[in-house]
Amino acid sequence: MRCPSCSSTAARRCEVLYAQGTSMSYGHDSSAFNISGMASRVSPPSPPTAPSYFRRRLLLLGVPGLLLCLLGVFFFLMLLANKGLSAAPGGLIPGLLGGYLVWQAWPPAGALSDANYRALAAQYVEDLRLYSTLWACTDCGHVFRPAAQAT
Ligand SMILES: [Zn+2]
Repeated sequence: MRCPSCSSTAARRCEVLYAQGTSMSYGHDSSAFNISGMASRVSPPSPPTAPSYFRRRLLLLGVPGLLLCLLGVFFFLMLLANKGLSAAPGGLIPGLLGGYLVWQAWPPAGALSDANYRALAAQYVEDLRLYSTLWACTDCGHVFRPAAQAT
């Protein structure tokens, strides 16, 4: 396959370049995903995240976060009643931590919708199909779709 940009014959399928440019290395106490500069340029599309992942996050982070918020309000009122206004803000610390957890767990718009996920998944399948037709030049880095197999 000839590169339409620089006419080099060093063009390869993106899938092949990606597979050649990525590897896992296993060390004594760690493993790492290695990716070359070329491979990172021709990465395949990422699959959408399933709603169940966001539901689990809400359950594991959001629920404890909410409880910490309530605990913070409770401590605040306890300190206010027993020690006065100057000591009360200290009681809000667990509430702030809880608020942070709830904020972290909050899903992006539409992330919990199954219909939305099905649409994203269908788009992902289409993106993958288009990706499988892409080539890249290893000389100039140009990414292209050969005219003969245009979609
Ligand atoms: Zn080229």
